[in-house]
Amino acid sequence: MKPSRPSSRSRIGAFLLALWLGGCATVPAVPPEPVAPDVVSPPKDPPPAKLVIDRLPPDFLHGGEARTTGDIDLIVIHSIGGPTCRNDAVYFTPANGSAVFWRDWFLGEGGKSIHYVVGREGDIAQQRPELRTAGHVSFGGIMTEVNRRSIGIELVNRGDGIEPFPEVQLGALKALVAEIAARYDLPPEALVTHAALDDRMQADCGGAPLRRNLDPGPLFPLEDVRAAIKAQ
Ligand SMILES: [Zn+2]
Repeated sequence: MKPSRPSSRSRIGAFLLALWLGGCATVPAVPPEPVAPDVVSPPKDPPPAKLVIDRLPPDFLHGGEARTTGDIDLIVIHSIGGPTCRNDAVYFTPANGSAVFWRDWFLGEGGKSIHYVVGREGDIAQQRPELRTAGHVSFGGIMTEVNRRSIGIELVNRGDGIEPFPEVQLGALKALVAEIAARYDLPPEALVTHAALDDRMQADCGGAPLRRNLDPGPLFPLEDVRAAIKAQ
């Protein structure tokens, strides 16, 4: 029996089916995996913190000795807190308060002074103009005449190696030291810690030797802050 000729309608249907199947060949059988949001890309460097500094009135009568820009070749980093010995145990003095609070404490303290204080929230207060010396490194350490040649910066922190330095505080410090280093043409190595300048010991504490100055403590990221000077 002669097969019947397909009707024109069924031929069009077969053609469309072929087209559809042909098209399907390019469609993957399994839908593509959804693209995960790019959550693991490294964070971009935050922009440098804007320097906002609380300064004393221009007619404020400052202490210290006058000096010139050529005298300055060091920036010394401190922390407010530090080790003392109480009842034969090492105790770190607390360091609560803002940069302005500690600047005002230094103003009333008499014996000690500092150029800048950087608070935990990135707040900065200036106690003494840079072209006047401040008393922040006592005599008898590894280097002499440090106060004559340095700018001193206090970080509000216990300095005990337990309390971290908040990013916002480090951001403000980096902006401050980069700006200072640029004005005096200082290399990154000009930034040093108080602990690196004074390795003298206190009297033994509970039978163990105790350094006089450990600040700003082991959690201070020295090379990271120096890199802010290098990057400028
Ligand atoms: Zn210090």
